[in-house]
Parts: sequence; structure tokens; C-alpha cells
Amino acid sequence: MLAVNHSAHPVITVVGGGFAGTALVLQLRQQPALAHAKIHLIEPREVPGPGLAYTVRRPEYLLNVRPGALSLYPDVPNHFTEWLRGQPESAAGVPEFAPRTTYGRYLNEELTAELTAPAPGPGSLCWHQTTAVVAPIRPDGRRAVLLANGTTLVSDFVVLAMGNFPPPPPAGPDHRYLHHDAYHTDPWGPGNLRRIGPDDNVLLIGSGLTAMDVLLALRQDGHRAPVTVVARHGRWPATHGPATPTYPNFYPELAGETTVTGVLAVFKRHLRAAAAQGIDWRPVLDSLRPDLGRMWATWPLQEQRRFLRHLAGLWAVTRHRSPPQNAATIAALTAAGLVRLHVGTVKEILPDGNVLRVRVRPHDTPGCWHVAQHVVCCTGPLLDYGRIADPLVMSLRDAGHLSADSLRLGLLTDTHGALRGADGVVSTTLFTLGPSRRPAYFESTAVPELRRQAAELAVELAKRVEQTSVS
Ligand SMILES: Cc1cc2nc3c(=O)[nH]c(=O)nc-3n(C[C@H](O)[C@H](O)[C@H](O)COP(=O)(O)OP(=O)(O)OC[C@H]3O[C@@H](n4cnc5c(N)ncnc54)[C@H](O)[C@@H]3O)c2cc1C
Repeated sequence: MLAVNHSAHPVITVVGGGFAGTALVLQLRQQPALAHAKIHLIEPREVPGPGLAYTVRRPEYLLNVRPGALSLYPDVPNHFTEWLRGQPESAAGVPEFAPRTTYGRYLNEELTAELTAPAPGPGSLCWHQTTAVVAPIRPDGRRAVLLANGTTLVSDFVVLAMGNFPPPPPAGPDHRYLHHDAYHTDPWGPGNLRRIGPDDNVLLIGSGLTAMDVLLALRQDGHRAPVTVVARHGRWPATHGPATPTYPNFYPELAGETTVTGVLAVFKRHLRAAAAQGIDWRPVLDSLRPDLGRMWATWPLQEQRRFLRHLAGLWAVTRHRSPPQNAATIAALTAAGLVRLHVGTVKEILPDGNVLRVRVRPHDTPGCWHVAQHVVCCTGPLLDYGRIADPLVMSLRDAGHLSADSLRLGLLTDTHGALRGADGVVSTTLFTLGPSRRPAYFESTAVPELRRQAAELAVELAKRVEQTSVS
């Protein structure tokens, strides 16, 4: 790839204005070396900032962590808590688990303040309410980002902050159900769940945080029939415990461990030590959170694969926890027979008139058929960039400018988030942050990891601009 000599007004285009894109833009604006930069934020939603997770307007959808973990800025950890303290939601005290829609408002307010602030220098920040469709490289080494509204932004740096993509089909090979009215690919789509009548027969695939949200939303909408939940391991997410003091970090004991078995042995030792002191398992797990990326990165590929095969399911339900009030609601619904959890794998989904027939195979049995008027897909997002069908991703993939990792967790990058092409060469113009960086960190999903990536990437881009302007 060509080395770019950045102009007096470097242009940075950030594709995606959800949490990660917003955090990045705010950090870029704080870099003195980027005072002259023209920053473009591309986000098609009506309101920029909240993204997929926090656009929802349903107050029953709660944040799954306490406010102290949710500041946009890693160096001002209380920023969100302080903001929340001044909101109507806090009239009776700051909520322990605030609605996600409230958090979306916080993100939008912070972004809007920056979008509308008088420019402190010659630089600028501009939001384009559209999508980016292609970003080919030009003869001068810059990229031409073409937007769906016909605008082209010639850019020195392009950062992909596109978040999560819809889940892959949960069953095949007959995919006719994907186009059937009774099948809901996207539980977050506006009004999608409101198509479900109060007595309709509903089946959810998956039992993670998404499934819990869907159950809460259905109850809120007056749904009263039993709901079938089919999940491979049949576990609900663990519940948050009370806010407790932290457990001391023991990463130095794990730094040299390159096997999952070795890591587990150290971890179990600390669980026992914690239990002996009356400390719960949660603070022990949380104490390792800042180092998870480093641990994952030192494991050889076969150990990473072993972790995914044997422990990722357990990890998902212990690391991503639900607010206690949500867990209590699900427990009450289960006790009342209104939620029926089946352990098994969905093997087939077949349209049958107005309904879908779903074949569920519990382990080592031929399986049985369920009939549902609505099937809601609550499995995780599609992470495999070899299969993602977004036009921008496809065009970059076809040009060999991005590559999926061999475990199909996201994109191959260097330590700064610069993309590796199909030839293994690191791009000087194309970067990413957010869930796409799971191959490097495994945990690249939640606010604490993403805001740190944003801050570090902003510093890195500023450094590159500084270096070329003095050379
Ligand atoms: C339902 C849900 C609840 C969650 N709850 C929590 C929580 O409580 N706490 C927590 O820490 N984390 C939570 N998360 C994790 C969440 O993924 C992160 O907190 C964060 O929101 C991810 O930000 P992002 O910017 O990577 O993705 P998003 O916020 O989804 O933003 C990506 C944006 O890119 C845009 N986009 C995509 N393609 C293009 C294109 N071609 N051109 C232009 N724009 C494009 C999309 O419109 C989207 O708005 C939750 C996730 C989900 C899905």
C-alpha cells in the first residue's frame, strides 16, 4: 500500500455512529495534533450515538452493568454517573441498572454537544445521515469513501465502527423460513415484537440477555401465553451480585500461562481463596477483566479454539450478567409455567401455512417438532467477516483489503486496529474498533473495552498525522 503524506487538513471518516464511533469522534476532537482535521461521522440512524444497543425506546430494557462502568471517557470514570444524577430517572436516587434508552440519550447528548460546538480551530466535525457503501483506494494512497447519498469523502483514514451484524440463520439448509412472517430475525427492529398477539404461541432460540429482553418486552406488551425457549446449554445469564469491593488482580500469576487448563487451575485456586474469605466468584472474575485481552493474545491458536469449544458458553453466561430484577422476573415466569426452557439445538425450521414448525434435537435424540406462530432469533451476532453481507464489508473483502481471522471471530488487525489485507499487509488507511476486534482481545464488546480502544486509536491517528506533518 502507498504511504500517505497527510494534507494540512487530514480527513478522517468514521463509519458507524454507535457507541464506538461516538467515543472515537469525541477522542479525536481532543487531540491537539488533529485541530486541523476534518472528521466525518457516517451513521444512518435518525439519532446518532445510541447505535443498535441503546436506540430502543422500551424502558424495560435495562443496562446490564451499573452506571460506574459506563462513562464514555476512560479517564473520567464517573462521567455517566454524574450525568445520570441530573436526569429525571434519578428523582428517587440514581438507578442501579438504568434503562438503555437513557444511556442512548447520554451518548447522543455528548455527541450533539460536539457536533454543534463552535469550532475551536480550523478543523470540523460533520455527521452524514446515510451509509458508506464502498471505500476504494485512490492512486494517491487515500481512500474514496462513497456514501449512499452520492457524496464522496476523500479520506486519509477510514475507521470501521460498524458494530454487530444480524445473526446467521439458526437452522438450514432450507432457508424459506427467513422470509416467513412468523420468523423474527431482528428482535430490536422497531415494532417487530408488537406484531405478536397476547395469546400467540412463541418460541425463542437462545437463552442469553437478548432472550431475557424479549421475554420482558412480551410481558410488558400483555403477552400471556407460555413461551418456549430453546437453548443449547439451557443456562440463563448469571445475575449481578450486590456491589462489592474489588478482588485483588492476580494477572501476574497468569501472565506465563499459555494453556486454558493452566489458567483454569490458577483461577479455581483464587475462587477457593475468595470463598474462604466469604467473597463471591464475581469479583474474582471481574478482577481479570482489564487483562483478558492480554491473556487471550498469548494463547496459541489451538488453546483459543479449545476455549471456544469448551468454555465460551459458560464464559458468556458468567461474564455477561443480568440485572437482578430481570432475573427475578424470568424466575417468576418460569415458576408460573409461562417460560419453558428446553435444552437442545434447533435443526430445522419449516413454514407450514401461517406457522413455523421447528425441529429441536436434544443431545443424542432424533428430536421433536414444536409449532410456533412466532419464532424469535435470540442467538448472537454473525461475527464471520467472510460471510457478512454489508456492501462496504463485501467490497473491501472482494478487494482483499480486509480478512476474517481463522476462528471467525472478527477482523485481522495489528495492535492499533489497522486492518490486515488478504496478503497479510497492514493497512495505513483502514482501521477498526468495536466487536470486529474480537480476534485480538476476545472480549471486545462492552463499554470499558471499547472506550479504551477509542482513546488509544485517537492518540495513534494523531501521532501519525503529527509524524507526516514534520517529515
Ligand atoms: C441489545 C444490546 C444490549 C447491550 N447492552 C450493553 C450494556 O448494557 N452494557 C455494555 O457495556 N454493553 C452492552 N452491549 C454491547 C454493545 O455492543 C456495546 O456497548 C456498544 O454499543 C457497541 O458499539 P458499536 O459502536 O460497536 O456498535 P453499534 O452501537 O451497534 O454501532 C454501529 C453503528 O454502525 C452503523 N453502521 C453499520 N454499517 C454502516 C455503514 N455501512 N455505514 C454507516 N453506518 C453503519 C449502524 O447503524 C450502527 O448504529 C449491548 C449490545 C446489544 C446488542
